[in-house]
Amino acid sequence: MNIWTVGTSSAVPSRNRGLPANIISYKGERILFDCGEGTQRKLMAEKLGLMKISRIFISHWHADHFSGLLGLIQTMEMEGREEPLYIYGPPRTEEFTDNILDTGYFQRSFDIFVENIVEGEEIVGEGYQIKPFEVEHGVNAFGYVFEEEQKRKANKDKMEELGIGSSPKVGKLKRGEEIEWEGERVSPEEVIQTVEGRKIVYSGDTSKCENMIKYAEDADLLIHEATCRHKIIDQRNGHTSAKQAGKIAEKADVNKLVLTHISRRYQREEEELLAEAREEFKNTKIGEDGKEFSVSPHRPED
Ligand SMILES: [Zn+2]
Ligand SMILES: [Zn+2]
Repeated sequence: MNIWTVGTSSAVPSRNRGLPANIISYKGERILFDCGEGTQRKLMAEKLGLMKISRIFISHWHADHFSGLLGLIQTMEMEGREEPLYIYGPPRTEEFTDNILDTGYFQRSFDIFVENIVEGEEIVGEGYQIKPFEVEHGVNAFGYVFEEEQKRKANKDKMEELGIGSSPKVGKLKRGEEIEWEGERVSPEEVIQTVEGRKIVYSGDTSKCENMIKYAEDADLLIHEATCRHKIIDQRNGHTSAKQAGKIAEKADVNKLVLTHISRRYQREEEELLAEAREEFKNTKIGEDGKEFSVSPHRPED
């Protein structure tokens, strides 16, 4: 699994930062979170496999988060895409997407399925699930949790002890079934360990809110907006300061925090912005356009 912050500016792009977009690559599938203007060029420049995008999750319908959709879809069409594309987002996503696709003499060669989703729903993919949760931004707005499925792994020592080794019966145990081995019953609990899946969380745009902390709990990686420094947060309704993003990461006990949605006013002050978050949460990085983050697989607990 790899994660890229593709576009990391706030509502206005800067020389070095484009409008919001993030990609999770999982087992050959690319999942896009937000699609600001210019996203497709960034994806091409970073060789991020634009045609492999299977699902797009829009956090909310402010233009900086969706204005790249039409161009991206037109390119997919011109490149001869046939696979369906799935688009999800908060209430009115179907209506807004219809409006976009009704613009100009636009044709398409592949199916686009659009769904308004709500907190509590789970979008289930191959080996993962994605959950939206409500955040506070003055309009319908979501953050998203990407969670890898639990894995069932055989405890090698225990298997060797019993002499089961690579018997085809291992598969049965992994599926949670009891087996008979040398006249004895062996239950899956004896030899199979559950390994929790990895968890990536994206905030979208939000002010500091409890729901964010709740859903980000124990995440391996939290990509959180940090629009401004704390001293002007009172002038930025519906957004989070770098200090607050650090606080959220600390309270949610995440492993790593990546700051994004950085206002261009900090072009020469990014170190200060980062330092502010690090005072609250040490393992903080600043997102950059096209920067890759990886998350190691979890190990079974003893
Ligand atoms: Zn925004
Ligand atoms: Zn917004």
